[in-house]
Amino acid sequence: APVKIERALLSVSDKSGLANLGRGLAARGIEVMSTGGSAKALRDVGIPVTEVADYTGFPEIMDGRVKTLHPKIHGGLLGRRDLEGHRQAMTEHGIGRIDLLAVNLYPFRETLASGADRATCIENIDIGGPAMIRAAAKNHGGVVVLTDPADYEPVMEEIRANDGSVSAATCRRLAAKAYACTAAYDAAIAAWMSEQEEAALPTNLTLAAERVQTLRYGENPHQQAAFYRYGTARPGVATAEQLQGKELSYNNLNDTDAAFEAVSEFEKPAVVIVKHANPCGVAEGTTSAEVYRRALACDPISAYGGIVALNRPLDAETASLIVQVFAEVVIAPEIEPAAQEVLAGKKNLRLLRTGSLPDPAARGLALKSLAGGLLLQDRDHGRIAPADLKVVTKRTPSDTELADLLFAFRVAKHVKSNAIVYAKGGRTIGIGAGQMSRVDSSRIAALKAREAGGEEATKGSVVASDAFFPFADGLQAAIDAGATAVIQPGGSMRDEEVIAAADAAGLAMVFTGMRHFRH
Ligand code: 5GP
Repeated sequence: APVKIERALLSVSDKSGLANLGRGLAARGIEVMSTGGSAKALRDVGIPVTEVADYTGFPEIMDGRVKTLHPKIHGGLLGRRDLEGHRQAMTEHGIGRIDLLAVNLYPFRETLASGADRATCIENIDIGGPAMIRAAAKNHGGVVVLTDPADYEPVMEEIRANDGSVSAATCRRLAAKAYACTAAYDAAIAAWMSEQEEAALPTNLTLAAERVQTLRYGENPHQQAAFYRYGTARPGVATAEQLQGKELSYNNLNDTDAAFEAVSEFEKPAVVIVKHANPCGVAEGTTSAEVYRRALACDPISAYGGIVALNRPLDAETASLIVQVFAEVVIAPEIEPAAQEVLAGKKNLRLLRTGSLPDPAARGLALKSLAGGLLLQDRDHGRIAPADLKVVTKRTPSDTELADLLFAFRVAKHVKSNAIVYAKGGRTIGIGAGQMSRVDSSRIAALKAREAGGEEATKGSVVASDAFFPFADGLQAAIDAGATAVIQPGGSMRDEEVIAAADAAGLAMVFTGMRHFRH
């Protein structure tokens, strides 16, 4: 049966649309009740309103932690209109029916995204609001529940058109929306809290992610796909603002994430160019423009149609270099207006601004799906500092070699395994990715370096390997290419053999003790 609206309770953090809703209800003689801030906002525009505290006879206490958590409120929302027993209980305890509830919650996600401290985030967890929403949604046979200001006007129109009533179908639809709202809200809190814990992995995993966008298709055109976001505050492609360009595709999102996560590893100005989720050029140095040129030089052929990520605001000079090569996406923490002007001519180029950089050392969860299940792990937040390195060869790396070794190992962390990275002078010169054998990755990396930089390209370079060399052959490929220093986790049964091969060639080699598989 339709629900006749005689009393409404409005308690909202986001006050948009509140005055119109209150005015519309009051104009029909519907009694409006409200909590402190909402009541004030309504009174300020001349709408008569009863304070919840006056109705319950109980003040708002504990800085608002307890406002509406009262039997006179929850009884009014939950009491079944069709049961004599419930009606009697309401009369006996002076509980009035609440027929319409409009609530939107403390802005927990926005507070989190603003970078607020833990105490502030905790204070922005709404308790009474979700309790009321869930109560009203459970009792949708007798209550209309509004959790989204976009629904206020359509429901008001329905009330006007139906002599003060809302249809059962509308009540059901809004109830489902209400539970989706509280589920997503709690999921955001749960994700945030568990991310901060060492033992982050839950026994039961409930994922309430919010669909942000339906994608044209998935990895391939015959696959359906959509993009979902769940409650973390990590700056990146999921929260970025798109300033121009076509809609991001599934592969764009995946590749852009890889590029931006990689570029955030570097303290100095850096550029990462990604193709098919692997870096095909990385450099760090002094200015974005200089760094972009050197990143591009690694593999200009693969960079065509790639993703360009920067860890500094995009300036006009760098933008004018980027437009000379076809790029699908450019992502940076900020975009200078002059740079945006330069890119404006490239209508299809997707330009993303993230506002800030993610913390590479921060914990977080990484998810992977397999047939019938999910794998959940800490994101790879491991980082190697100079003090972690153990020199295992007779020769110690020079300062220049050391800087390049650390740079190359950071890059290798973001290359699909087996990953081999050649670097020289703060830039990659050859990357071998995703091979089933490490020696193949090693050969490919050297080959790519020679393709782009000539026969001598690898002379005097350094090499990083994401995992240990199981045999001396992978290292031999680096020696043959003329590399002078190597960084790798170590820990193979044949470490002795590999170290001996390095010493025989006069190489300097350091062990990190940390592996960076990425599959
Ligand atoms: P107002 O601005 O009207 O003072 O407060 C509105 C906000 O308070 C809404 O976001 C609503 O969800 C929230 N709220 C209502 N009752 C309670 C309660 O008992 N405890 C808490 N923590 N929040 C409440």
